[in-house]
Amino acid sequence: MAVKINIYTNPAGLKHDTGPGHPESPARLEAVLSLFGQAPFDVVPLLKCREMELSPLLYAHSRNYIDSIAEMTPDEGYRYLDADVIMSPDTWEAAVTAANTLCRAVDDVMAGDCDRAFCAVRPPGHHAMPDQAMGFCFFGNVFIGARHAQEKYGIKRIAIIDFDVHHGNGTDAMTRGAEGIFFISSHQSPFYPGTGDPRDDQTGKILNIPLSAGAGSKEFRSVYEAQVFPALEEFRPELMMISAGFDAHHDDPLASLNLDEHDYLWVTEKLAALAEKYCGGRIISTLEGGYDLKALQASVAAHLQGLM
Ligand SMILES: [Zn+2]
Repeated sequence: MAVKINIYTNPAGLKHDTGPGHPESPARLEAVLSLFGQAPFDVVPLLKCREMELSPLLYAHSRNYIDSIAEMTPDEGYRYLDADVIMSPDTWEAAVTAANTLCRAVDDVMAGDCDRAFCAVRPPGHHAMPDQAMGFCFFGNVFIGARHAQEKYGIKRIAIIDFDVHHGNGTDAMTRGAEGIFFISSHQSPFYPGTGDPRDDQTGKILNIPLSAGAGSKEFRSVYEAQVFPALEEFRPELMMISAGFDAHHDDPLASLNLDEHDYLWVTEKLAALAEKYCGGRIISTLEGGYDLKALQASVAAHLQGLM
């Protein structure tokens, strides 16, 4: 039986302006969305999410923090929360709709409207802490989607796999306080944001896998074979979610791992096979990093091929 995939995007993500020269730019989302006008992705539904519900954000963040992001949104120009996190007038709408997009994708997958979903959203989410925006991120999109799946559909075991080159410190911190979520992150280390040491977790809810600068396909595939896939076999998730960042690509300007698009196809096919075995095929993936536009586009295409 053919696998049905839906693609989601938040139109406000194209308007979230981070200023001249910022790597997390609207051009990233434009590069990804341009895939959907051409074969083989022209047949895939592209759904737009404009939902501005604030209640799902409370799964990951305090009311005070959410209100502070709303209040700090500038009426014009830019507001620098730090050197990386920059707000413009459309940032609030982009950040809220990005998180809502994950919930919408969960709803449609759980309703059986599709088997798999990819959320092409901005801003990304995996560095957002419960009470602090950081690393280009405002709200914990993937974690919010996971908690929505738990609360609305009673899903008991959810695995979040994060292969972005940076440690998903926000998702890690949120997972520590949650039940029924297993977070796996492979990341360059030592590197931004400085967290993700495997020895830091005593909860058993986190599997952090550091990769040295310069590591490539061979090292990446061997840690997934040796650690990630066996851990997923043991956890037996009912739903799989992916923080799909593509900045471990060798062309990426921000980091120093040496993956290419074939590695993203490989890992996605392996994860999809595990999802078939344990999750009824259900996977919800969301865009995190990836800053070389050509590499990002090729890597997202490979990831989608793996999902399909
Ligand atoms: Zn990243």
